[in-house]
Amino acid sequence: MRWNRISIKMGASIIFLLLTILLPLGFVIDQVVYGFYVDEEKQEMEKLSSRYASAIAHSNNRMMVQMVTTMADFSQIPLYVTDEEGQIIANAGVPGITVGSSISEEDLVALSGGETITKEYKAGEGGEKFLVSGQAMESENTFMGGVFVLSSVESIDQSIQRIRLMLTLSGVGVFFLALGLTLVLSRKLSDPLVHMERATRHIAKGDLKTRVHVSTRDETGSLAQAINDLAVDLQRYQDSRREFFANVSHELRTPITYLGGYARIVNKGLYESEEEKEKYLAIMQKEATRLKRMIEDLFDLAKMEEGKVDLEMEAIDIKEVLENVVERMQLRAEEKGIDMISTLENNVPFLYGDGMRMEQIFYNLLENALRYTEDGTVTVDLKLECQERVLISIEDTGIGIPAEEQPYIFERFYRVEKSRARKYGGTGLGLAITKELIELQGGSIAVSSQEGKGTRFDIRFPIIPDEKEEQT
Ligand code: ADP
Repeated sequence: MRWNRISIKMGASIIFLLLTILLPLGFVIDQVVYGFYVDEEKQEMEKLSSRYASAIAHSNNRMMVQMVTTMADFSQIPLYVTDEEGQIIANAGVPGITVGSSISEEDLVALSGGETITKEYKAGEGGEKFLVSGQAMESENTFMGGVFVLSSVESIDQSIQRIRLMLTLSGVGVFFLALGLTLVLSRKLSDPLVHMERATRHIAKGDLKTRVHVSTRDETGSLAQAINDLAVDLQRYQDSRREFFANVSHELRTPITYLGGYARIVNKGLYESEEEKEKYLAIMQKEATRLKRMIEDLFDLAKMEEGKVDLEMEAIDIKEVLENVVERMQLRAEEKGIDMISTLENNVPFLYGDGMRMEQIFYNLLENALRYTEDGTVTVDLKLECQERVLISIEDTGIGIPAEEQPYIFERFYRVEKSRARKYGGTGLGLAITKELIELQGGSIAVSSQEGKGTRFDIRFPIIPDEKEEQT
């Protein structure tokens, strides 16, 4: 059995709590029992002494005194009897009391006054200790003496010791029972934590297949589930990262190979005509542009990851931005035989944003729409969704995105299906950059798509408060 700190801490806390309850409780119970026992004993003695006193007083003869003392002797109840002058006339088993001696003046006065005497009595130096209860004997209102019944304090103490022993034993029993239960319980709680700690260490070392068994639905269960989710996320992140690096190096290698190859041809004059040379130079220029774009994307992404993008925020006419981008993409759409339709409302107020970045956002989205659409239409919509926001929708009739892939398309390095990526190119960075830029400017983006039917991206931006006031 391996001890861990949580079991020890929990066990110690519960035991400490238990002791802080048990000890004072034990003390209180002890006091209550002690008081109760002594009271009971006193009452019993009072009852006895008054019974003997009235028996003697009513019979009114010395024979009765003799009978009472014999009975007391027989039942081992120490007592002594005095006459009306306080002189002891009978003694049944009380050490240190002699017949013929007198009780104190004080006691005699109290007795003759009808008071019950309750006191302690010690039979000589180091002798036995007794509780004493004395009652007056009265017949027809005449004081006739007193009866003193005694009870050995030692025997009371012995009884109380027995009770204390029982109390202590049950306390110790409860303590060990609680200790056992606490240890079982704390181990039951801490074992899953230890297990999770080990699993997390495995995950941290790179063993991303590690999973924690989720057996409960409480906080421990949620933690186990969260660890499993984290492992899944890390796995996906690692996969997409690996894939991204493979893609980036592939994408970088292609233009560089072209550039190197054509540069060598031109350099060595391995072309047949000026026209052919121009063609090679044009290819080189196109590839250089692609390379530049890719490096810019990577650079942008790196800056965003560090949170270092400088935005030049100002009031911008979003309609004008969209018109520019649509115009620039029109030629590409025509080349592919795709209809590009834009319905841009006029009453849309200015937005607060970075004009260049806004262009980049819609350029990326339109580029994707055209890239992933073979025929049909690409529509760009701009309208005032409500008094607070504008809505820009970019919709195509292209290949669509499978539902299970949709949650991930905005993730960095994520590309739908590898075969698709090979066919259509791209780096999987476009949407990640787009989403980041939209959010940096206070907007949001959502996708809805049906495989084989088309895709629609809805982008929402808040309106500048002043602009809104102008509107109303
Ligand atoms: P890429 O450079 O690969 O296009 P993006 O981040 O722009 O990277 O897009 C991520 C993935 O989402 C793409 O690989 C593509 O499969 C899918 N995608 C994006 N836009 C569309 C669209 N309009 N229609 C279909 N699929 C799309």
